[in-house]
Amino acid sequence: MAVQRVVFTREVVDSLLSYSKMAHPNEGILLLRGRASKGVAEVSGVVIPPAAVHSRSYSSFNWWMIPVDMSYLGVAHSHPSGYAVPSQQDLLHATGRLMVIMGFPYSDQSCLGVFDKDGNPVPFEVIDGPHQR
Ligand SMILES: [Zn+2]
Repeated sequence: MAVQRVVFTREVVDSLLSYSKMAHPNEGILLLRGRASKGVAEVSGVVIPPAAVHSRSYSSFNWWMIPVDMSYLGVAHSHPSGYAVPSQQDLLHATGRLMVIMGFPYSDQSCLGVFDKDGNPVPFEVIDGPHQR
């Protein structure tokens, strides 16, 4: 089932934005962890990929270094150009259920773009604190 809605914790959003600022003017890339059920993805953590390669145009890393893990939801990366929309390249390389793009200047959640693996925009919300179970 495709993801129809995404929930981030405030902490995850802060991590995405501050990591993007740190990587700027290069692209930063992070793995998204959490869980998805009934079309709702809850992103509860981020992981810095091992051996990440940063460039101005595209970030990549060796997928074989990523442990196989059911909590993997997708990839978040920054667009130093400021446009939080997926490029052709991004769509070709999309993995997982989610693609999150952080657009410069990475000031708050309005700089985030959230898409499914086909590049369709997905609505998202940000909650405070840990997920209620
Ligand atoms: Zn991109």
